[in-house]
Amino acid sequence: MPAATDAAEPTQEASPKPKAAAKPSTAAARLAKLGLRRSVDLVLHLPMRYEDETSILTIRDAIARAGAGMAAQVEGVVTSNEVTFRPRRQLVVKIADETGELTLRFLNFYGSQTKQMAEGARLRVRGDVRGGFFGAEMVHPTVRPVAEGEGLPDRLTPVYPATAGISQAYLRKAIGGALQRTPMPETLPQPLLRGPLARLRLAPLAECLRLLHNPPQGESEAALADRSHPAWQRIKFDELLAQQISLRRSQAARREKTAPSMPRVQGKLLTRFLGALPFGLTGAQQRVVEEIAADMTRPHPMHRLLQGDVGSGKTVVAALAACQAIDAGYQAALMAPTEILAEQHYRKLSAWLAPLGVPVVWLAGSLKAREKREAAARVESGEAQLVIGTHALIQDTVRFARLGLSVVDEQHRFGVAQRLALRGKASETEASAVADERVPHQLMMSATPIPRTLAMTYYADLDVSVIDELPPGRTPIVTRLVNDARRDEVIDRVHHAAAEGRQVYWVCPLIEESEALQLQTAVETYETLVAALPDLRVGLVHGRLPPAEKAAVMDDFSAGRLQVLVATTVIEVGVDVPNASLMVIEHAERFGLAQLHQLRGRVGRGTAESVCLLMYQAPLSPTARERLATMRETTDGFEIARRDLQIRGPGEFLGARQSGEAMLRFADLETDAWLVEYAQEAAEAMLAHFPEAVEAHLTRWLGGREHFLKA
Ligand code: ADP
Ligand code: MG
Repeated sequence: MPAATDAAEPTQEASPKPKAAAKPSTAAARLAKLGLRRSVDLVLHLPMRYEDETSILTIRDAIARAGAGMAAQVEGVVTSNEVTFRPRRQLVVKIADETGELTLRFLNFYGSQTKQMAEGARLRVRGDVRGGFFGAEMVHPTVRPVAEGEGLPDRLTPVYPATAGISQAYLRKAIGGALQRTPMPETLPQPLLRGPLARLRLAPLAECLRLLHNPPQGESEAALADRSHPAWQRIKFDELLAQQISLRRSQAARREKTAPSMPRVQGKLLTRFLGALPFGLTGAQQRVVEEIAADMTRPHPMHRLLQGDVGSGKTVVAALAACQAIDAGYQAALMAPTEILAEQHYRKLSAWLAPLGVPVVWLAGSLKAREKREAAARVESGEAQLVIGTHALIQDTVRFARLGLSVVDEQHRFGVAQRLALRGKASETEASAVADERVPHQLMMSATPIPRTLAMTYYADLDVSVIDELPPGRTPIVTRLVNDARRDEVIDRVHHAAAEGRQVYWVCPLIEESEALQLQTAVETYETLVAALPDLRVGLVHGRLPPAEKAAVMDDFSAGRLQVLVATTVIEVGVDVPNASLMVIEHAERFGLAQLHQLRGRVGRGTAESVCLLMYQAPLSPTARERLATMRETTDGFEIARRDLQIRGPGEFLGARQSGEAMLRFADLETDAWLVEYAQEAAEAMLAHFPEAVEAHLTRWLGGREHFLKA
């Protein structure tokens, strides 16, 4: 084991804040912050990388390699040590060996460090050498005082994920101790290891853990670093296995719960609604409606994802499910991630259902307290049969009398916590109102197709229905890329579209760094367009507008009173105005593919030929070029998602990183997808034949964190 370093290691995960050091909380509390409560948690807290402290470069060689992007370790004696105030307050230390001199610079530092690096002290330092204000320098290197002639470690030094107030030295010691006192008996049953898993040649876990915490000499540094080493594979496999078992268990638990059975009955609301619809369902819609109806007929909670490209007609499917619930005497709730989208749903569903005598209630954060109380009272009394809103729906103050179906639109937009709260809502209803322990059916809707590996992991306990057909009579959207310099031509197109009685969206540039700047840009764009299009009625909608104004503008646009709608990405999801046929997106190069696809999906909803103009500012980065080319080449959401996945990797998909973090620390869904299939097979076999092994494995890997999976 490497010798302990000074407690404060400024280069590591956090820079020191003298205040935090003054009164440390207890060690256990600090470890708990990292989720390290049990010995086994420490043992499974694996290095995120390794440092090679096994060799020392001369200062001259280290300087010669400067900029190579590799950390170097040098040893020297301090020749000067001073706190300077120009260009800012910092500690500047110089060390020298026989070959040269190197500057060390610390922007945040403790008094103890100044002492540790007093003139004459011998230091071993590690960091990136760069050319800087004072010549060749290391900024915030790792520093360790050593005695002359002190030996070098013969093993790689692990670097652990840490948090403020926990030093690497402390972690190494705690983990080393845990490793010694915690036996890690095999949890995988021998028949599996010798049978279906034999091909993986999994090494014993205990051995792998020891190796990863303390790699013996000669282990491939590259394989350890990129986690392709066989020891890592074993860890990843066990982690994926825990995930798969846990998913299957929550699925089984759900199947054991009861939900109200809601068989379809002819002649009631559902039938009348279908009869009143101005269009017939597509074949794909009919199919998914059947799938959902069958789920809702069963006395177990539906847990289904309805996937369908932008514009494929998911809303009417949700409405039909709601009718089925209402016909059976239950309430249905529809929750959307933004107020604009929720409001659209409210209007659309009220227009469809209110004439048929269904009381529809609107519940959103922007309601006045009194209105909210009134709405909540109608929900609680059971008078409201359909409740539509934002996440205000899941607030404590809202209790459902008989919630039988909850629909979540654009479900991936909701954070993990909100999705969990919605489940909580289900059990709350279960506990308070429905005495017989029944929970509502759940329908989630998304326009974003899920890549296969994600479907196999995070979403493994979802049933999926897909609408793979667009309603008829749509003309495909033509997408053009237009250089920003040709703005005048774009304005002409806007004129032209308006002259033909069509409506236009004009999407403002995305400015991720600053919401204020984004707002300012939107207002400026609006003013420029108002000036450039004096004969047209132009509106502006953005996220900072008070909800009532937002609704009024959207209303004017829907009703055709506005011809041009200047908007920020608030219109990204779900907004539905079929008469809009021209979409202009400014600075399209700043948007992600999924976002562009969603935005473009706002047009092409009627029968008129729709056009999407992606304005860009040259020069384009290679990935921006790739994104825009993809948009021009295809309007198929699945194809776009596939390419997006190629460009971005699956981790960022569907906010999976968020929920995934809680679950997968080591396995990577892109590189380790092949392991998932083995893990699935093993999970099934263990659940079927080795119940004790299942418990041991889950306890080891998940401890108390299992609930994250249900997000
Ligand atoms: P999304 O799947 O993106 O949520 P919507 O439900 O908003 O799509 O539907 C898009 C538009 O298509 C809406 O105006 C909707 O009324 C209309 N629509 C849905 N189904 C059909 C159909 N079978 N025939 C014609 N129009 C339809
Ligand atoms: Mg929608």
